Amino acid sequence: MTDVTVVGSGPNGLVAAVIAARAGLSVRVLEGASTIGGGLRTAELTLPGFWHDVCSAVHPAGLASPVFRKLGLLDRVEWVVPELSYAHPLDGGRAGLAWRDLDRTVEGLGADGPAWRRLVAPLLARSRGVIDFTGSQLLRVPRDPIAALRFGLRSLEQGTALWNTRFRGDIAPALFTGVVAHAAGGTPTLASAGAGLLLAMHAHGAGWGFPVGGSQVLADALADELRARGGEIVTDVPVTSLDEVSDSRAVLLDTAPALLFTADLPSGYARALRRYRYGSGVAKVDFALDGPVPWANPEVGLAPTVHLGGSRAEIAAAENAVARGHQPGITSGGSGGGPEHPYILVTQPSIADPSRAPAGKHVLWAYTHVPAGSTLDATELVTAEVERFAPGFRDLVLASASSSATELAAYNPNYVGGDIYAGELTMAQLVKRPVVSTAPWRTPVDGVYLCSSATPPGPAVHGMNGWWAAKLALRERFGIG
Ligand SMILES: Cc1cc2nc3c(=O)[nH]c(=O)nc-3n(C[C@H](O)[C@H](O)[C@H](O)COP(=O)(O)OP(=O)(O)OC[C@H]3O[C@@H](n4cnc5c(N)ncnc54)[C@H](O)[C@@H]3O)c2cc1C
Repeated sequence: MTDVTVVGSGPNGLVAAVIAARAGLSVRVLEGASTIGGGLRTAELTLPGFWHDVCSAVHPAGLASPVFRKLGLLDRVEWVVPELSYAHPLDGGRAGLAWRDLDRTVEGLGADGPAWRRLVAPLLARSRGVIDFTGSQLLRVPRDPIAALRFGLRSLEQGTALWNTRFRGDIAPALFTGVVAHAAGGTPTLASAGAGLLLAMHAHGAGWGFPVGGSQVLADALADELRARGGEIVTDVPVTSLDEVSDSRAVLLDTAPALLFTADLPSGYARALRRYRYGSGVAKVDFALDGPVPWANPEVGLAPTVHLGGSRAEIAAAENAVARGHQPGITSGGSGGGPEHPYILVTQPSIADPSRAPAGKHVLWAYTHVPAGSTLDATELVTAEVERFAPGFRDLVLASASSSATELAAYNPNYVGGDIYAGELTMAQLVKRPVVSTAPWRTPVDGVYLCSSATPPGPAVHGMNGWWAAKLALRERFGIG
C-alpha cells in the first residue's frame, strides 16, 4: 500500500508530494495530463525554439514563498529578478514604472511618489508578517498583528470607494490598478486590493522573478527531488473517482473540489461545496516575435511584466464589465456591451532570458479576462491593444497561439470555465475556501485532503496550499509533526 497518493502535479501537488517524501513516506503522484507541472508548464506553442509558459510566467509569490525557500527552490533554480518589476504604459508615451528600488519608483511618480511610499513601505517593513498573514487561512490570529492591521487598513482603502483619495495624478493610480486587476472580478474589492497590495509589496521586496528557461523548471526541480527520494509520478492518469485512490493511507487532491462529490459527503459539507463559486475566465495568446516589442516608451521594454488597459478608470470599467458577463473587445454598440480596451497582462520574459527564443527573436505572453466559458480567440484584441502602446508590434508577429477560456478549462480541469484561480477571489471565498473551517484542507472523507488553490491561501505559484495540506495529513495520518 502506498502511504500517500497525490492527485495532480501542479505546484501544490508537487510540494505536498515532496514534503511527504522528505518525511520518509512512499509517495506516488497521479497526473491526468501527459506532462507534469499543472500551471508550471513551458512549451514550444508557436514555432520551434520559442519557449512559451503555457500558464504561469512570473513568480513574485514563488520568490517570497516560505515553503519554496524551505525546499531550496530559490537556490536550486536559476532566477531572473528584474530591476523593473512591472510597467504600465499610458497614452502619449507615458508610463508608470515599479522598480524594485522603491526610492527610484517614488522619484518617478513625481507628486504621487510620497503617497506610493506610504502605501507600500510600511508593508515592506513588516513583509514577513504580511507574508505570514496572507500565506495561510485568514481565520486565525496573525503572528504579526501590526503587519495584519497595516495590510487590512490599506486593503480597506484601496478596495472601496476610498481608493481615489490617495493619489492626485493618473500614473500612480493606474500603476496600482494594474496589480489589483490580477485578481479578476469587480474592481475595487477588498480581495483584489489585498492581492494588489501583496504584489506591489513583492515588487519592491523579493522581486517579480522567474526561472531561467521558464516555469517548467520549477516543476522539474520538485519532480527531480521527489524521484530522488523514491517517489513515483505517473502521467496520463485522470482520476475520475476517489475509489481509484482508496489504496493509500492518505490522499492529497491538487484538483478542483468537485472530485470530492464522487464520495459520500455529509450533507452540510456537500451543500457548502455546491455553493463554491468560480470566477471570470481568461483568454490567452502567445506570440513568437521577430524582435523586441517597439514600446512607445522605451523603459517599458525593460519590464518583463507589463499591464495594459490605460487609466485606473478604464481598467476598472473594463474589469467590471467582464465581471458582469460582457465579452471584451465588443464595443457598447455591439452585441456584448463589453470593454473596447480590456485589461491585459503581458509578459516578455525573453528580454531578460535569451534561452526562450532564437537569437534576436522574442516571445510574448498575454491574457485578458473574459466571462466564464467564453470561446473568444483574443489574438486580434491583444494585438490591437499592444499596438496602442507599441505601434509596429503587429509587423513583428511571426506566429501566435491562442487559448480561449473554454480551451484552458479543457487543458486543466482545475480551471473551471477558464477560471485560472480555481475559484472566485472574493473576500467571502478567501475565508470559505472551499468551506469555512479551522483546517479547510481536511475533507470529511477519511484520509482525503484538498491541497489545490481552491484552499487557503488561494491561487498563484507558491506551494503554500500543498505545504499546509501535507503538514496536516502527515500529522493526522502518520503522527509526523
Ligand atoms: C494562463 C495562466 C497564467 C497564470 N499566470 C500566473 C503567474 O504569472 N504567476 C502565478 O503565480 N500564477 C499564475 N497563474 C496561476 C497559477 O498557475 C495557479 O494558481 C497554480 O498553478 C495553481 O497550482 P495548483 O497546484 O493548485 O494547481 P494546478 O497548477 O492547476 O495543477 C493541477 C494539476 O492537477 C491535474 N489534475 C486536475 N484534476 C485531476 C484529476 N482528476 N486527475 C489527475 N490529475 C488532475 C491537472 O492536470 C494539473 O496538472 C496562472 C495561471 C494560468 C492558467
